[in-house]
Amino acid sequence: MTQTKHKTQSATAEFSAQYKDPRWQKTRLRIMELDMFRCRRCGDKTTELNVHHLKYKRDAKPWEYPDSNLVTLCEPCHNEFHIMKKRISDLTDPLYEEWLTNKNEENFDAYFL
Ligand SMILES: [Zn+2]
Ligand SMILES: [Zn+2]
Repeated sequence: MTQTKHKTQSATAEFSAQYKDPRWQKTRLRIMELDMFRCRRCGDKTTELNVHHLKYKRDAKPWEYPDSNLVTLCEPCHNEFHIMKKRISDLTDPLYEEWLTNKNEENFDAYFL
């Protein structure tokens, strides 16, 4: 979700409808298959998995992204990511990569206090 513009009711409805689109369902399944139905961060496969967009492009449909922009995350990791994204205004690719690969986890503790 973008945080820039205030969304109208219809825009929000349209947004969630996109996630029910068969093209997204297909993309989502393909990404999960690539990640072997495991969270890319913690390896969990028992919690519900989400396919997360690393970056959002304006006006792009959820399935119109390269695979490299999509990552399978379990619900807790996905939530954690979005909290972190809100708190770190300049979440750079290396920092994201570090978080994803679980390296130096203590570096991130400060963001979750
Ligand atoms: Zn996880
Ligand atoms: Zn996400």
